[in-house]
Formats: sequence, C-alpha cells, structure tokens
Amino acid sequence: MDLIRKEQKREMGELMKGFVDSTLDFYENMGTQNVAREADDETIHRLKSRGIPAKGRPVKEVFEEMERDVYANQSLVQHPRCFACVPSPVSLFSWMGDIMTNAYDPHAGSWLNASGAGCIEQETIRWMCGLAGYPETAGGLFVSGGSMANLTALTAARDAKLTYADRELGVAYVSDQTHSSVAKGLHIIGFRPDQVRSIPSDSAFRMKIPELRAAIEADLRAGKKPFAVIATAGTTNTGSIDPLEEIAGICENFSLWMHVDGAYGASVLVSNTHRGLLKGVERSDSLSWDAHKWLMQTYGCSAVLVRDPRYLARTFAVHPEYLKDASAGEGEANFWDLGPELTRPARSLKLWITLQIMGSDAMSDMIDHGYKLAETAEKALRRLPDWEIISPAAQAVINFRYAPAGLSDRALDELNQKISRELCAGGFAQVLTTELNGKKVLRICALNPATTREDMLETVKLLDDCAREAVGRMSA
Ligand SMILES: *Cc1c(COP(=O)(O)O)cnc(C)c1O
Repeated sequence: MDLIRKEQKREMGELMKGFVDSTLDFYENMGTQNVAREADDETIHRLKSRGIPAKGRPVKEVFEEMERDVYANQSLVQHPRCFACVPSPVSLFSWMGDIMTNAYDPHAGSWLNASGAGCIEQETIRWMCGLAGYPETAGGLFVSGGSMANLTALTAARDAKLTYADRELGVAYVSDQTHSSVAKGLHIIGFRPDQVRSIPSDSAFRMKIPELRAAIEADLRAGKKPFAVIATAGTTNTGSIDPLEEIAGICENFSLWMHVDGAYGASVLVSNTHRGLLKGVERSDSLSWDAHKWLMQTYGCSAVLVRDPRYLARTFAVHPEYLKDASAGEGEANFWDLGPELTRPARSLKLWITLQIMGSDAMSDMIDHGYKLAETAEKALRRLPDWEIISPAAQAVINFRYAPAGLSDRALDELNQKISRELCAGGFAQVLTTELNGKKVLRICALNPATTREDMLETVKLLDDCAREAVGRMSA
C-alpha cells in the first residue's frame, strides 16, 4: 500500500527544509516576540470544527494551519523575559537532538531494540549520579518529568520499606513547601491523605527538623510505619533547599528512605560554584532531576536517580514470555525493567548531545547566570520604596510584593495580583503570583541564559510603574 504519494513526499521535503530555517529564526528572535500568546475565539472555533476528514487534505494546507493556529498560540516559556512558574529555556542543541531522536524514533525500552541509545542513557545517568555523589553502582532512568520521577522513586521506596501488609500503616513526610506532585504520586501508589505528614517549614521555607523528628516518633508510638522522607532541593515557590544533612541523619537513624525532589534544583549540581549548596544529597536514596527546567532541554526530559538501582528492578521488572528474547546481558540495561513504561522514547539523547557540544563548564556558567539575575532583581527592588522582599534571591528565584503602608492584607493581595496582570498584559515580561505565609506575592524565576541584566532591570521598572498606576487608580 502506498500511503504517501511521490508528490506529497516531495512537498513535505521542501516544507521541512524551510521549517528548519524558520524555527532557527524563531529561537533567534524569541526576545522580540510577545511572551504570552493565546488563541482567539475564532481560532479555537476553527480548530474545533475541523474534525477528521475521510479523504486527506493537501500537505501544505495542513502544515500552514498548524503553524498559524496551533504553534503560534502558546506561552513562550523559552522567552528571555518569561519569569513565570519555572520557565523552560531551550538550547538549540537540545532542539537539534530532539528532532534527530524523533526522526529516527528508537525504542529505548530495551538494549535489543536500541543499544546505542541505551548506552548513552546509562552514561548520562552515570554523569548525573557522579555529580550527586552517588556510588559507581548507582543508576536510574529518564522519565517524562519530575512528577513521574517522584512517582517512580516513591514506588521503589514503598516496596523497599513496607511489606504488602504494612502498606496501610505506612507514613511519608513532606514539608508545607513540597511540590504537589509528591502527594499526587503517593495517592497514585495507594496512600491515603492521612498517611502523608506535612511538616511546617521555617522562616527560610526549609523543613523544620525538630518537628520532623517529633512527627516520626509520634507515629512510631502510635504503631504506624514511617517509611520515607521527601526533602526538596530547590522548592518551586522560593528555591529553598531543605536541610539535607539533618534529614539524611534522621533517615539513617529511623531506617527511612530519603528521597530528594530536585526536579527544579538538582541542576545546581552542575554549577562549579554553587554545587556545595546541595551537600547531603549524596546520602539520599533517590533523586528527581528535571533537565527540561534548568538544563535547557525540550520537554519530556527528567531523570530519576537511585543509589541502589536494584530497588527499581525489584519494583518494576516483569518478564512476560513475549519479551524473553530481549533479556539484557552483562552491563546492558533494559530500561523497561527500571520504571513504569515499556515502550519509551530515548529522552537522554538530546541532553547528551547538548552536553557534548556545549561542555559542562558552559552549562555551569549558565546556572550561575540564573543566580545573578535573581540577585539583580533583588538589589533593584530593595532600592525602590514600598517593595518588600518575601524570600531573597535563591536558586534563581525571588519573591516580593508591593506593600505601601495603610492598605489591608486583602487589599495588598488584590494589588499584587493586579500588578502581575497588568505587566503580563503589556507583553514585555511575564511575572505571576504565588502565596507565601498566607500572602499573595509576586515571584520571579529567572534561569534563561538569554536574559540580560537590562531585561531584569526593565522588568522591575515596569512592575514599579504598574504598581504606582494601580495605587493611583485606587485612590482616584
Ligand atoms: C516542576 C517540579 C515538579 C514537577 O515536575 P514536572 O516535570 O512538571 O512533572 C516536581 N517537583 C518540583 C520541586 C518541581 O519544581
């Protein structure tokens, strides 16, 4: 059956050649574009009424429709002035790796299917484990994101520490700053909400150690089975790093699994200057690490590292008859035995390609640049009247709010929400809000190597303009 006509193949070839150049331009000129681009009602209506045609449409028509109606309508998380959530600046080398990997489409579930990709995945994981200070025997695999990395590690933790009968008594410990994906993961693997203890954090948003110890002891006295503590290296809200050494000590004491959620902050390990901030991570049992956040990868690139990968195999390895021909030999890895997926894309290749071309020193400089950007914002804000720093620059994140005297807490919450909305509507930069200590605050996460000091200073100036205008309107 000839599914593609010669003419279509020729047309597609032409389009894709032009596509490479136009996407390179898209990345090159990112900073000149509006940071938040949303589809209008007409576009959504057009897309919804399209349906699936019984007879196909011309290649060029579909290509152009996708460019215009779909890809043009997305927030530019790679934009140098996207400071919302955790932005995802993309290295063009990752873009290249992504296109190459998708084009060849290796099945990275088993060594038999893709030994080259499997070997690169092992080597990339080995490099990451080395940075984490794990032993040579450590391992892990790539998954789609931090949520899946946390889920994978927590499943191994459950099986390492609890018998089937003990599961309903198990207790896991998080902090009030732990990412929601941890509670979601624990729910997916069968734990009730009352089996997850949220330990309060201190004024620097780090898990309080005496409270953690007291909670574990109280649970033991009540006949429960504490099994895991989830520490965070780089919380999403403030970039704070939990006291890893103390948590490791507690986990060793009570024989608990120590998982570190480094989805955001594990990338600090690549920085030659800042790596020491994660001291203690080498004592953990597992670590989540998103490369699609601070290592400039396109989406779907995250690693879960485990001190002893036999725990992954124990949880995830199954050997049905139709996979027997693909059993792995000495030194080979079948990644389908280490995580929930069977068929899986080769997610590590683009990161490997990026690192091969850039070198780890350039990656280190890139991480340090994020630190400097947040510090620049902090200094600029401290010079302006009526701005309050809620959490100082840490791991490229800073939280602050406009707080002129004489306004109620509620009015301040509304005011800061308004400032964010006004700034975003301008299209120059994107700054969103979060909540800390019950207050609505503005948050900047600045990890894009293309962001300049001037970008940051201009953004702070615009925030200040929006703030004064909003207050002016309130009193008018
Ligand atoms: C982003 C983030 C996650 C979730 O990662 P995804 O890749 O979005 O699934 C988990 N934990 C922390 C600390 C994060 O910042």
